[in-house]
Amino acid sequence: MFTIQDIHAREILDSRGNPTVEVDVHTIDDSNKKKGFGRASVPSGASTGTNEALELRDKDKRYHGKGVKIPVHNVNNELKNELIGMDVRDQRTIDMAMLELDGTENKSKLGANAILGVSLAVAHAAADSLNLPLYRYLGGTNAFTLPVPTLNVLNGGEHAGNDLSIQEFMIQPKGAKNFSEALRMGAETYHTLGTLLKKKYGANATNVGYEGGYAPPLQNTHDALDALTSAIDENGYEDKITIGLDSAASEFYGDGTYSIDGKTLSGGELVDYYAELVETYPILSIEDPFHEDAFEDFAELTNKLKDTIIIGDDLFVTNVKRLEKGIEMNAGNALLLKVNQIGTLSEAFDAARLAQKNKYKVVVSHRSAETEDTTIADISVALGAELIKTGAPARSERNAKYNQLLRIEEELGSTGRFVGM
Ligand code: PEP
Ligand code: MG
Repeated sequence: MFTIQDIHAREILDSRGNPTVEVDVHTIDDSNKKKGFGRASVPSGASTGTNEALELRDKDKRYHGKGVKIPVHNVNNELKNELIGMDVRDQRTIDMAMLELDGTENKSKLGANAILGVSLAVAHAAADSLNLPLYRYLGGTNAFTLPVPTLNVLNGGEHAGNDLSIQEFMIQPKGAKNFSEALRMGAETYHTLGTLLKKKYGANATNVGYEGGYAPPLQNTHDALDALTSAIDENGYEDKITIGLDSAASEFYGDGTYSIDGKTLSGGELVDYYAELVETYPILSIEDPFHEDAFEDFAELTNKLKDTIIIGDDLFVTNVKRLEKGIEMNAGNALLLKVNQIGTLSEAFDAARLAQKNKYKVVVSHRSAETEDTTIADISVALGAELIKTGAPARSERNAKYNQLLRIEEELGSTGRFVGM
C-alpha cells in the first residue's frame, strides 16, 4: 500500500496573472521507508462553456474577487480529512469519494478547481510512488504514441484585442516524421508568420494573445487564413502542415445568429461558410463551429464535411452525458478533452474512452490561462490522443507541455510512434 500521508494546497498565479490552486500530495509505503510526492496546478478558461464544472472563487476584495482561498481551504480541510490514509493508486475510488463529499452536479460546493488539483496531484504521487513516468502509470502497457501538436499561432475572439470572430488559428505539422520535427516545423512557421505580419501590418501585429499566438489587427477570417498559408508555403510545408480552427462560436452568437466577417449568419448559412473555407484552405479541423447547444448544426456540418475533424469543446465539456448525446446524433467526430471542464481525472478518462470506443478522435487541450504544470502532455500520450493543442510554440506555460512531449519522445525512443495522420 502507498498511503496518502498529507495533502496541502496553496494559491499560486496563472499565466493571466490570476490566482489558481496548486496541490501537493505526499505518500508513504508500508515499510515506512519509501516516500512519494505529486504536485499539480489547475488551469482556467476565458471562453468557458456554460456546462463546465464550477471554478470556485472567493468573490471578495482580494485579486478583484478572483482569489482561491476558499477552494484551497476546502482541499486543506474537507478533502484532506477524507483522503488521508487511502491508497494513492486508487484513483477512481479517490475521485468518487471527492464527488460524494461535494454532492453537487457541477462540483460547486467544494469547487472543481479544488477537486481537480487533488485528482491530478494524486496521479502524480501514485506514479512517483511506483517510480513510473506519469504517462506510463496512466497508460498502462499501451504501445505509446505521440500526438500531433496543433499550435495556436494567430489569436482572435475572447483571447485577443482584435476584431477576428474566430478565436484560434492553429497549424498542425502532421506530415512530420516525429514529434520533435513537427514542433520544429511549427516553430519555424510561427516565426515566418511573425515576419510576414510585421511586414504587412506593422510591428503592432506581432503582439500576442493569451496563448502566445499573434493578435494582428484584422477583422476578416480570410486575411488571417491567407497569412497562415503564406507562412506555411514560404517554409515549403504546404504538403505537411494543415490548419485547425477553434471558432468558439458561442462567443459570437446571439439572438439566433452569428456575427462573423461583418455578416450576420444563421446556423445553416454558417455551415455553407465553413464548407467554403474548407474548400479554399488546407483546413483539417474545426472546433466549436456553432454555439454550445447546437447539436443539430454540428451533426449537419459533420455529415457535410466528411474529411474534416469536427471537435466539440463547449459542446461536450468533457462530460460523458453530453458526449453520449453527441454520439447518438453524429454531432462532431472528435472530443476536446479539458480536465478542468469536468473536474476529475477519472471522469475525463471516461469521456476519452467513450469517444475512442465510438471512433471519435481525442484532442487533449490546455486552457487560455495555464501554469507550468505539464500533466496534459502525459495524458495525451497515455490516452493515445491524435492531437494536443497547447498554444503557440512560445510562452513557457505553453512550451512546458511541448517540452514534456520532447522528453517523453526521447524516453520512448523507437517505441514511441508519432501519430502523424
Ligand atoms: C478553447 O476554447 O479551446 C480554449 C482553450 O479557450 P479557453 O480556455 O479560454 O476556454
Ligand atoms: Mg475551444
